[in-house]
Amino acid sequence: MATVIDGKAVAQTIRSEIAEEVRALSQKYGKVPGLAVVIVGNRKDSQSYVRMKRKACAELGIKSFDIDLPEQVSESDLIKQVHQLNVNPDVHGILVQLPLPKHINEETVLSEISLEKDVDGFHPLNIGKLAMKDRDPLFLPCTPKACIELLSRSGVSIKGKKAVVVGRSNIVGLPASLLLLKADATVTIVHSRTTQPESIIREADIVIAAAGQPMMIKGSWIKPGAAVIDVGTNAVDDPTKKSGYRLVGDVDFEEASKVAGWITPVPGGVGPMTVTMLLHNTLEGAKRCFEKKH
Ligand code: NAD
Repeated sequence: MATVIDGKAVAQTIRSEIAEEVRALSQKYGKVPGLAVVIVGNRKDSQSYVRMKRKACAELGIKSFDIDLPEQVSESDLIKQVHQLNVNPDVHGILVQLPLPKHINEETVLSEISLEKDVDGFHPLNIGKLAMKDRDPLFLPCTPKACIELLSRSGVSIKGKKAVVVGRSNIVGLPASLLLLKADATVTIVHSRTTQPESIIREADIVIAAAGQPMMIKGSWIKPGAAVIDVGTNAVDDPTKKSGYRLVGDVDFEEASKVAGWITPVPGGVGPMTVTMLLHNTLEGAKRCFEKKH
């Protein structure tokens, strides 16, 4: 049976480490890291993610700047807000919660965030540097960073291993594959047009699944002893639950946990780590800023 990687526990450990560093910064510089969380409109899911991020800031001693804008806000007004946050010296990270309403171009808005405050790591320059040898982006995208952190804190070495990433989105699959490559894995990307994904996945020592396809990856697709990081978070009908649904990953956990060496559950795997990585990025941004000024 696989070792189940407890994302909640790892996240808690990292949060304590962050809180400790925040205290030390506050003593040394008399200042704390600041994160601006911008939300437009009132989508229930976005509101709950934003609440979670703001609450986590409060718990760790990070100052959160709450910017709540109405659904109808114009793109130029939103960009003005971003510009104000860019020049606010108490803000070290800016997060614009996605998706934005249809009348606003996400790419335009995200590229206005100062590179030094791009804690989501989505700025094209940060992603570009991630793709280049011997260049270091200022921030790594949170979910892929969470995947690598879970592997390394579980003692899974990446160097020289065969890794397969399932999915090639800008926010998870693509940067996850670039991070694995930086860590010296031999990387293959499986996507919606790949034929016979199972034969490719079966070769992998490390699988990062981010396709958004409920339980697509079966136990028989997994190489015995492989490390499986399941990013997928899919709601499936479940009449036995009060809500009428439950969350499952892209991996058939029941089957795969009998074959894999390590596996993350859904929920309780990558999810709790993603917000923690956002806080870690904010801390890093603040440290760079404080150290530069001294
Ligand atoms: P996306 O829809 O933007 O991208 C999905 C990718 O999977 C695409 O590149 C597509 O080519 C590929 N794909 C789709 N069907 C496939 C198939 N049958 N076989 C192989 N590849 C296939 O999704 P995303 O934003 O990258 O998110 C992926 C999953 O991860 C979703 O379930 C999402 O909810 C979850 N997610 C979780 C977290 C977290 O913190 N836990 C964060 C972000 C995303």
